[in-house]
Amino acid sequence: MLLTHRTRSLRTYLVWGLGSLGFAFLLVSLELRFFVHPHLVEEVDAQGRSLVRYRAQQELLVAVLEQEVDLRSYLGSGNQGFLEAFGRGGRLADEPLRALRGNLPENARPGDLAQMDRLEFLVRRWQEEAIPHIRLRLKGPLADLPGALAQENRAFGEVKKASAELTRMLDARDEERYQSIETTLAYARWLGYATEAGLFVTALFFARWLLLRVSVPLANLAEQARAGDGYPEPTGNQSVKEVEILGRALYELDVRNRERESLLRQEHDEALATRAFEELIQHVSREEDLLAALDQALHRQVRSSAQRILLHDEGGEGLRAVLPTLSPEEAAHNPILQDAGRCRAIRQTTPVCLESKAPTACLCPLGVPGSGAYLCLPMVASGRTLGLVNLQARHPDHWTPERRRIAASLVAATASALQTLRALELAQERSIRDGLTGAYNRRFLDEVLPKTIDQSVRNGLPLSVLMLDIDHFKAFNDTFGHDGGDQVLRLFAQCLQGHVRSGDVVARYGGEEFAILLPQAGAEFARVLAERLRATIHALPLPEPPFPAGRHITASIGLACFPEHTRSREALLPLADQALYEAKGLGRNRTVSAGDLGKGLPLPN
Ligand code: GH3
Ligand code: MG
Ligand code: MG
Repeated sequence: MLLTHRTRSLRTYLVWGLGSLGFAFLLVSLELRFFVHPHLVEEVDAQGRSLVRYRAQQELLVAVLEQEVDLRSYLGSGNQGFLEAFGRGGRLADEPLRALRGNLPENARPGDLAQMDRLEFLVRRWQEEAIPHIRLRLKGPLADLPGALAQENRAFGEVKKASAELTRMLDARDEERYQSIETTLAYARWLGYATEAGLFVTALFFARWLLLRVSVPLANLAEQARAGDGYPEPTGNQSVKEVEILGRALYELDVRNRERESLLRQEHDEALATRAFEELIQHVSREEDLLAALDQALHRQVRSSAQRILLHDEGGEGLRAVLPTLSPEEAAHNPILQDAGRCRAIRQTTPVCLESKAPTACLCPLGVPGSGAYLCLPMVASGRTLGLVNLQARHPDHWTPERRRIAASLVAATASALQTLRALELAQERSIRDGLTGAYNRRFLDEVLPKTIDQSVRNGLPLSVLMLDIDHFKAFNDTFGHDGGDQVLRLFAQCLQGHVRSGDVVARYGGEEFAILLPQAGAEFARVLAERLRATIHALPLPEPPFPAGRHITASIGLACFPEHTRSREALLPLADQALYEAKGLGRNRTVSAGDLGKGLPLPN
């Protein structure tokens, strides 16, 4: 399937590459032909002309010098043979002068030309000035030979000076010209370097492109094949095109694998963070600590701008804000707290993630920010919804799938831990409570009594115990059945629990007999309480039916106080029981204190 991708052939790559190179070469050669070459030709030409000009100037000077020597020899000796060269002088000077004039630099200025004219003029004048001396010499020896020679010498000196001046001027022109050519050539040279650098960079890019498009995929193919991942290995007769297609397919596969690997790594990190959180909450034993840990973990891992943890009311329909808490006035303004069914996430038991400006956004003022986005996650464990976590963010795109996944994992782990914690608490509570009446059971009483006595001893305060037994309870069973008896037992226990202090312990000792521990209570206080209880029990209304109107219950109470009646820890309860026994013996519905045992006197009503 991967091989169906549309690809270019290797030949196309080569044609494109070679074409680009050819075009670049064409550009360079055009530049050389029309830009650099003319300048080079011009320079060679100019140098050639300079050489000719120099030679012409040398020839002119040599010719003039020769004539000067001949003239001087003639003037000195009168030998006409010396004049031969002088006679040719006009022609000899003409030729170099012409050559000199014909090879003046292109950039020669009017001053240069004037100097040229002056040189020519001086050469001619020098020759013409010599003619009268020659004529005089023809007539005989010169009267003023030194004067004639000095005059010749001056004229010749002027020619030499003019020639030197012209040379200097033309050299300056040449220099200017060379400098201009030099600048042009330097420019051409840098242009050449730039073209070559561009060509080099293009070649590098092309090579890299070829490498990535062809060589890397092919190398990957070879590697995959070596690793034995089940991908076809190229064979000797496999065409370049097929190999290239395979290479491209494997390259794309590799890219996808990398993406998948990074996703897996991300999920792995998320799983590690969630596991660390789960381990942390294993050691939490209080509900508040558990929710605080969730609050912190959410802040840290999903970076919400605001968040709320709400829990279902025990046995109610509403929710209660746990983190952060709300005042009753604030709570009254949030209908969702009174009726959890109004929350979409709780109603559907599914996360709700929306932008706050979305048309389908909730109207809940507690969970929807003014701008941004929100995520509501129900806390569900074993099919029961325990509460709701609301997370808010300022940016509409904040709740990415990763963040939603992490938040959902943390909330799910917390819900499950919360349920376990509650189940444990319930089991613990049940293990110390009597199932029928809700009072503490005998086992708890046995456990708590020694500790309470220790505490009394430590604090130097008294501890009293009341033993209560319903009078003629059997008659209730007999008349109203076992259920009726149970009902009486429950009412009796509730009555006791409702009339003791919060630190007092009401326990079912067995059957219809109950014990009450009264820490920090002396015998007198206990007696007053016992009597009040007895009166309350007597006045306790029994529901009709099954009980007839006017039917009531009474109880007998035995009282013992530590250390007033006994200093023995073990004797305290039996002593109270003994007092109860005596109360029964004395006619029931009365309280007997251990201090009055054997006196046969009931306590005053
Ligand atoms: P007294 O005034 O001497 O205490 O007489 P009584 O009838 O209250 O005492 P007795 O010991 O003769 O009878 C107690 C009865 O309580 C016997 C037993 O069947 C009944 N009973 C014990 N536990 C329960 C219980 O959990 N539920 C019910 N319905 N009856 C119970
Ligand atoms: Mg009884
Ligand atoms: Mg009894």
